[in-house]
Amino acid sequence: MSNKVIIEVRINEYAMRDHNPHVPYSPEEIAGQALECWREGASIIHYHARDPKTGAPASDPKLYADTVRRIKDKSDLITMPTLGAWWMPSPEARIAHIVEMAKDPQTKPEFGPIDMATSNVDTYDPTTKRYTTNETVYLNTTKTWQYFAETMNSVGVKPMPAIWAVPSIRATQAFVEMGLFKEPLYCELILTENWLLSGHPGTVKGMEAFVDFLQDKPKWQWSVMCVGGNLLPIAAAAIERGGHISIGLGDYAYPELELPTNARLVARIAQIAREMGREIATPAEARQMLGLTK
Ligand code: ZN
Repeated sequence: MSNKVIIEVRINEYAMRDHNPHVPYSPEEIAGQALECWREGASIIHYHARDPKTGAPASDPKLYADTVRRIKDKSDLITMPTLGAWWMPSPEARIAHIVEMAKDPQTKPEFGPIDMATSNVDTYDPTTKRYTTNETVYLNTTKTWQYFAETMNSVGVKPMPAIWAVPSIRATQAFVEMGLFKEPLYCELILTENWLLSGHPGTVKGMEAFVDFLQDKPKWQWSVMCVGGNLLPIAAAAIERGGHISIGLGDYAYPELELPTNARLVARIAQIAREMGREIATPAEARQMLGLTK
């Protein structure tokens, strides 16, 4: 098995430009930046559809599809749109754009994320020491997980379990046993900082707490991300432990690097990995490592 580092760019999430002016909103902007990131070594792009002008969250399958078409036109990047946001009315609505895009080879996503947790996602303000709504829960029943996994499998999109805490690893293992997730797996370890407290802390220790429970799972390729904080202090430790990196302006604005572009973040990770003796996986190599067939 290759030990190359897979770099995923988490290009926009629901981040706004008041924190970093480079956050892409429109399909054209997202695809343009995805291609820049691909040239710097990214092999997977994760994106959210946004209103092209205001940046408001959008769910129109056309925006999702237009983005992929532009990316596939010029690159062999692996695409992973978000699953519809948690506030959407039903599981069917949350996955509708993935099912729609899967009908056309030109827009078909290769991965779809499934958050293997139910969590308090009410944001916390460390300055005022207050939560925002006092009741925001991101609900994912085991029935919903099964529905998402079965639907993705049926349209040829590979589920990507997002690991919020150690119990997510146990649920993911159950899904492997149930035949709903197929190894080799690609999974993401979620660290959170500042306003979101529902992942492990954004520290090497927070990451290690996950990795301790992955030692007996050689067929799981794991990548680490950090919502709300700087991933760079953790990246070297992840690379050293055999992990992969998911980074981007969607998660954090990176004032430490003077508000860089997504491509600059990818280039930085590629440089760190190479300096540590691990080469960067191309999309074709990542497909092989992650069990994707083209
Ligand atoms: Zn996302």
